[in-house]
Amino acid sequence: MRYISTRGSAAVSVETAIMGGTAGDGGLYVPEILPALPPASFPPTADLPAIASIFLQPFFAGSSLATRISDICRAAFNFPLPLRQLEASPGSLSVLELFHGPTAAFKDVGARFLARCMEAIIHDGVLAAGPVTVLVATSGDTGGAVAAAYYRRAGTRVVILFPEGRVSARQQHQLTCWGDNVVSLAVRGEFDDCQRLVKACFADSSLRSQHRLCSANSINVGRLLPQAAYYAQASLAHWRATGRNLSFIVPTGNMGNAFACVWARRAGLPIDRIILATNANLTISDYLATGQWLPRPSIATLASAMDVGNPSNMERLQGLCGDIQTVREEVSAIPVSDVEIRSTIVDEFRRHGLPWCPHTATGLNVYRKLPAAERAGRDWAVVATAHAAKFDTIVEPLLGVHIRLPDELSALLARPTHFETIPPELDALAARL
Ligand SMILES: *Cc1c(COP(=O)(O)O)cnc(C)c1O
Repeated sequence: MRYISTRGSAAVSVETAIMGGTAGDGGLYVPEILPALPPASFPPTADLPAIASIFLQPFFAGSSLATRISDICRAAFNFPLPLRQLEASPGSLSVLELFHGPTAAFKDVGARFLARCMEAIIHDGVLAAGPVTVLVATSGDTGGAVAAAYYRRAGTRVVILFPEGRVSARQQHQLTCWGDNVVSLAVRGEFDDCQRLVKACFADSSLRSQHRLCSANSINVGRLLPQAAYYAQASLAHWRATGRNLSFIVPTGNMGNAFACVWARRAGLPIDRIILATNANLTISDYLATGQWLPRPSIATLASAMDVGNPSNMERLQGLCGDIQTVREEVSAIPVSDVEIRSTIVDEFRRHGLPWCPHTATGLNVYRKLPAAERAGRDWAVVATAHAAKFDTIVEPLLGVHIRLPDELSALLARPTHFETIPPELDALAARL
């Protein structure tokens, strides 16, 4: 399997696509063809790592990773991603819980798979490269998942930049409790300063080659592909149990999670509709309504990990579809306000006694807002992207209860932390690299 850029440049190997992150022409890598993986490709007894391995194998065909995918899936998919049914048919509601990993959010899945692919590529010397430095700017959630995934992965070092005093205490702890091959730097500035510094490093060809800089951001195809595996597992389980296709409502920011669902459906999995739940950042919903793609600065909302004004992965969907009409057939989008997020967290707790994070609440709000006939005619799964305990400062005051931390997260929060503080200047960062 070869990978091409959404902007048309020549095909590269999957190893190059993973280590390069974005294509040389500024586009995003996509597989040259989408393999066909109908339900019959998956034995009924296959567990999550086996389903992931069967789904991912064709995307790595002919590469140095082909014989390793099964082991990488066993190691990366080592926590459950359960589909929990909350309400029965008609219009049944389930929640696909993606928050049982080390940092209690769905980004653990992609980051763990990507880290192991990079480790294998470096170990095998495929691109004649040595150790790499993975440089990440984070406003909170991504950095923790990447740090946890790369911690002690041979041949890799991670440098995380976060804005001093602008991430929550729990987030900061998850960014700074590592050590070993993970370096955490608090930047005296905003998230935009962190991002600017990372871009400046990548633009500096001597820094870039000296440290073999790599990125692990959500547009890396090695993070996107494994996310399709949980859509495969959930839709197969539902289809085998009911004979019906499952529709997904996906809380969406940069559209990586939702786009993986589109790939899974295109590959032949029993998926019906895909609805994107967004927050007050309206770039996607405006585009679907008007056909005009107008990126804009992001707006801060309660669902902060979805505060994206220029969702990168739309370029992949546009490339797959060709025209706006086909994009509209593929997905729809429904925005959710902060007021609705708050009321949904409260209402759903009353209904089922379960606390949901603000991102998951956007998805549940969309489910409740669906026209009655549309809701009743299908079986729905809302994707739960993070554990409510990660957003305790929002959820606990609304519900008036203490939310118990998942064990993995409390283990992280018990670890000692260490970080250094740097001014928002390239020289300061370069000296730390
Ligand atoms: C990153 C993230 C999202 C948004 O996912 P995208 O792939 O960027 O659309 C939603 N919820 C949580 C908790 C996240 O961390």
